[in-house]
Amino acid sequence: MKDVLIIGGGVMGCGIALRLAQAGAKVTVLERSIPGAEASSAAGGILAPQMESEGPGPMLELCLRSRAMYPKLAEELRELTGIDIQYLPCGLLQAAFDEAALHRLEATVAWQKAQGLRAELMDGRSARALEPALSDRVLGAAHFPDDHQVDNRLLVRALSTAAARAGATFRTGYVRGLLTEGDRVLGVDVDGEPLHAGAVVIAAGSWTGLVHGSRIDPQKVRPARGQMVELQLRVPLFSRVLFGPAGYLVPRLDGRVLAGSTMELVGFEKQVTAGGLQGILTMAIALCPDLADAPVSSFWAGLRPYTDDHLPYLGEGPLKDLFLASGHFRNGILLAPITARVVSEAVLGQRTTVDLTPFRFDRPAR
Ligand SMILES: Cc1cc2nc3c(=O)[nH]c(=O)nc-3n(C[C@H](O)[C@H](O)[C@H](O)COP(=O)(O)OP(=O)(O)OC[C@H]3O[C@@H](n4cnc5c(N)ncnc54)[C@H](O)[C@@H]3O)c2cc1C
Repeated sequence: MKDVLIIGGGVMGCGIALRLAQAGAKVTVLERSIPGAEASSAAGGILAPQMESEGPGPMLELCLRSRAMYPKLAEELRELTGIDIQYLPCGLLQAAFDEAALHRLEATVAWQKAQGLRAELMDGRSARALEPALSDRVLGAAHFPDDHQVDNRLLVRALSTAAARAGATFRTGYVRGLLTEGDRVLGVDVDGEPLHAGAVVIAAGSWTGLVHGSRIDPQKVRPARGQMVELQLRVPLFSRVLFGPAGYLVPRLDGRVLAGSTMELVGFEKQVTAGGLQGILTMAIALCPDLADAPVSSFWAGLRPYTDDHLPYLGEGPLKDLFLASGHFRNGILLAPITARVVSEAVLGQRTTVDLTPFRFDRPAR
């Protein structure tokens, strides 16, 4: 059984560590901060393969498979750790404020139904019958009853706890680069100390391209900043995830509403900006006017690991015994269960549940 080093303790690193440790591998997660310090905690936790989809294909298939794994994962993590990751099968409404947007939703609903997926177009009145807090200005909406949400912070905590209980070691340290010999990876350099292993997994999110010696072009995975605002309601105003043309609202059970987000290619700058907050709050109040009175309890920004074709890099990397689990862009929480499964299978030399060809690091540029 291999010993494995995982660079990065986000949702990917923790999920893969859990699956490898359960399979009997000796696993060490190397995290420069604390598990879940970056994008995995900044996210909204929306599990929306249908709403997010750019059309039929391997990415939609991957996302649907991962979404389907969530109910069992939530059960498993509760049994292993006692943590309820707040997986909520709440459904999602995508609202349109004008005819053009409504036509686009109509087209999306049509192709998704043709694929056998549940989706429904409704007029404004029917949408407000489902969610009375929606603005009167909403002309119509697409209802995706199978798109859901999870509390991503609890998810990372549960995954890291379960991985540690299964025998994975978590070590704080900055991986400066890979130790290599010819075209094979031998281990990593952590803060100047060499660590050797039979396999290395890069799960370093937006920082993947900065791992020295990996032969991965830093341009392949780039940071895309997303700002978020948290509002605190005493009584929840709505129960579904709500999307508008300029953002979304995620209602947590305890009355918090996460409002997001921006999409900015501004390098590794993680600041929250006045313009970002203004845009998010304007969107939030346009979708749901009653939110104008809601107290703002927090705000933050995180870096999505962006790829040009919006697909992640999964499986074998450019060096022997090097594996990738990176570039999940805005669907990393959704894709965590399937990524953990297929990347651990690849590391263990098993046939992967999903054909990883479309997600190879050397796929042609789109
Ligand atoms: C605002 C926002 C909203 C989002 N909303 C959603 C959503 O609703 N649904 C969804 O599915 N996805 C969402 N995402 C995307 C999702 O958060 C990411 O795709 C996912 O978290 C990526 O996980 P990761 O483990 O690859 O990266 P990260 O969580 O960024 O983890 C990478 C880790 O690697 C560590 N690291 C990096 N380099 C090194 C090094 N050299 N040495 C040691 N450690 C290192 C970092 O400290 C970090 O902890 C959102 C993202 C953002 C920013």
